[in-house]
Order: sequence, then C-alpha cells, then structure tokens
Amino acid sequence: MRLITHNMLQCHVKACPPGQSYPLQIRNAELEALDAEFNADFVRRLIPKLDWKVLRSTAFELGVAQLPEECPAEPTEDDLQMIHKVALQTRVKEAEMVCSGCGHVYPIKDGVPNMLLQDHEI
Ligand SMILES: [Zn+2]
Repeated sequence: MRLITHNMLQCHVKACPPGQSYPLQIRNAELEALDAEFNADFVRRLIPKLDWKVLRSTAFELGVAQLPEECPAEPTEDDLQMIHKVALQTRVKEAEMVCSGCGHVYPIKDGVPNMLLQDHEI
C-alpha cells in the first residue's frame, strides 16, 4: 500500500464515532521503496487531492521524510520529487492500521490492506 492510498482510507465500522474514522494510524510498519517513474505533472495534479497534514504526519511517523508544515503553493521540482517519494514510492509492506475512533485494526499483508469487516461491524 502506497502512502497515497493511506491518505484516502478511513474506517468504515458502523459504530465508529463521527469525525474520528480518519486518518488510520499505521503501526509496526515494514516499508519498502518502489520504483515509480517521476512525473512532475502527475504529482502537481495530485497535490490538491492530498490531505497534506495527514501525509506530513504519516511521513514523519514512519521516518520517511520531513515535509514542510504547509503544502508549497508553488512547488519547486525538489518539492515535487519529495512528494513523489513520499506518496508514490513509499510502500507499506506489512503493518497494522488502527482507527483512533473505534480501535479497529486493519492489517496490511504483503502490501495489501485488508479493509473487510465482520458482519456485525457493518
Ligand atoms: Zn473506526
């Protein structure tokens, strides 16, 4: 799971308190770097879709990068490269994602997040 995907995932447990289903906290992560071709235009178009605060705190917690506090309004080539590295090249291979609202744990195995819920949680 790349960090861009994590940036969009939220908890779907029915009883999850409103407003607390996002973001999911990643713990016990094993990371790997993906080979992904850098495309400046693609990254530029991606920026408005990102939750910057979440990307920034996740990158920091995982020790991937220290992103600026605010998303650069006019990103330089270096900024775009950094965002590319964090959002598109960083893959969480094994981990648990924990919802801070309800405590549900979503496992990530071999890079694939398991977002399935038990019947009583839907
Ligand atoms: Zn939840």
